[in-house]
Amino acid sequence: MITIALSKGRIFEETTPLLAAAGIQSLEDPESSRKLILPTNRPDVRLIIVRATDVPTYVQYGAADLGIAGKDVLDEHGGEGLYQPLDLNIARCKMMVAVREDFDYEASIRQGARLKVVTKYVKTARAHFAAKGMHVDLIKLYGSMELGPLVGLADAIVDLVSTGGTLRANKLKAVEEVGAISSRLVVNQASYKVNRPMLQPIIDSFAGAIRQD
Ligand code: ATP
Ligand code: MG
Repeated sequence: MITIALSKGRIFEETTPLLAAAGIQSLEDPESSRKLILPTNRPDVRLIIVRATDVPTYVQYGAADLGIAGKDVLDEHGGEGLYQPLDLNIARCKMMVAVREDFDYEASIRQGARLKVVTKYVKTARAHFAAKGMHVDLIKLYGSMELGPLVGLADAIVDLVSTGGTLRANKLKAVEEVGAISSRLVVNQASYKVNRPMLQPIIDSFAGAIRQD
């Protein structure tokens, strides 16, 4: 049995065509089903539905053979025990630094101010500011980062941005790109060695179905 770890929402939606290319179709819709293990049309393949941030963990420990996770999540996890053979080019967005519309980010950097930054991506943010030689105080949040600068918790946020609509709605502006984000296929290294005859055709089908745009 091959187990594939996925998260609901955007990643599941954008993964459906890739699964179809490998002849895999979920027998239930994860958005309406309350089941966490979803059977597929292939008796030898099942899907497990987990939080996006938990996908690398399930694959790392071999509870899932394959998984699909954002680069944002993989960078925070560290990637231990995982092969990352494919950039699937789905769930694309950018990791950005954003501040209040009325905040002069460049000036505060020039003055060497020690910024307070809220983020869910502490490891990524730390590496980004360290590479710029900036000293910042990082505060870990688990969601709604946009609120931080509005209520005085922080000067800046590090978060994912796609259209910028959420930033605009909260009178924030993006001031710096941290990196481009998309979702990757991850494979348990031990499972790949043992189950390669089963896994390679799925990986190859995914590779052939990646949209380049
Ligand atoms: P929740 O939002 O329910 O707290 P989550 O943030 O873990 O859960 P999603 O928002 O579905 O889950 O994000 C899952 C993945 O999708 C992220 O890890 C990231 O790689 C990608 N993603 C997140 N936001 C965007 C976006 N605005 N545009 C494109 N891809 C995104
Ligand atoms: Mg989210």
